[in-house]
Amino acid sequence: MKLAELGEFSFIDRLARQVPPASGVVTGIGDDCAVTGMTSGTVTLTTTDMLLEGIHFDLSFTDPHRLGRKSLAVNLSDVAAMGGVPRFALLSLALPASMEVEFLDCFMAGFLDQARQFDVALIGGDTCASAGGFVISVTVMGEGVPGKVVRRRGARPGDAIYVTGTLGDSALGLEQLRRGVRQGEGVNRHLDPLPRVREGAFLAASAGISAMIDISDGLLADLGHILDQSVVGGVVELNRLPLSPELQQVVAAGGDDPYALPLAGGEDYELLFTAPLSSATVIHEVMRLFGTKVTAIGEIASQPGLTVKGGDGAIYPLKRRGYDHFSPCIVRVKG
Ligand code: ADP
Ligand code: MG
Repeated sequence: MKLAELGEFSFIDRLARQVPPASGVVTGIGDDCAVTGMTSGTVTLTTTDMLLEGIHFDLSFTDPHRLGRKSLAVNLSDVAAMGGVPRFALLSLALPASMEVEFLDCFMAGFLDQARQFDVALIGGDTCASAGGFVISVTVMGEGVPGKVVRRRGARPGDAIYVTGTLGDSALGLEQLRRGVRQGEGVNRHLDPLPRVREGAFLAASAGISAMIDISDGLLADLGHILDQSVVGGVVELNRLPLSPELQQVVAAGGDDPYALPLAGGEDYELLFTAPLSSATVIHEVMRLFGTKVTAIGEIASQPGLTVKGGDGAIYPLKRRGYDHFSPCIVRVKG
């Protein structure tokens, strides 16, 4: 069945029936507004992200279930990057009338699956017809402890720079998908990223970290945001970058910019953060508590600018920093 036959209101009715009751939700889908309450004494963190067919995803290799999961994951990652706990989500969709209802059902199943995994309630949204492609807009509200929300500013000279997980896998996965590969660790990382929600909340609450961001545009681009906002510089060491076995092979294969994927590949959705050396012991608890690797990859410096050093101490020439929507495939290196 096509969406045109089902109609907007039947879709919303079906959707509302799939959403379980949740704490903090007084009124969910079905009225003019959702009515919610946050835990008393918390501050509210709000974030929104759009995903456009042809820009953010390619339906020739993206299945609807993982697209639904990813649409929510990228927003959860933003809440995680400030140390918040996500609570409520709004989902707005522009849908081509020719879309198959089954496709949309799979998309919603993926979205609600991710929501359940992170205890997030879908409380509303908007649905309209699209004259072009499929457009997804998600807004997430989360809560944080006042004074414990971690911002991009706050990095200090002498702080270590850390990253969770491994780098460059999602960008490798995207390259593989474009070449026709449909399986593998990188492909899965690209289509179904895991937001580091519990890690982010723990680091903010307990580890005395000074700045944090999630890696959506690439390590160097996102580290650049921390450095700019903190008015500091930084040094990253190539031989400390956490690389999966697949990425180690890519790097070993060489080429004119062997570290392009881990340095500038986007959409890893790992957490990048800085902290004084006194925080190191607590930071490494993340491995024991959540099974997530945390690696120190460099150091904050007082001199502005971002330097990447090879194992021999030589400076690695930066060809590109990451993704910029208005100049894709940028070769610009700032500062
Ligand atoms: P209104 O015309 O007052 O904006 P709508 O008909 O757009 O109301 O929406 C009716 C209800 O369905 C609202 O509670 C809205 O939040 C919810 N809703 C609409 N589209 C979605 C969606 N894609 N996901 C979740 N909830 C939705
Ligand atoms: Mg509406």
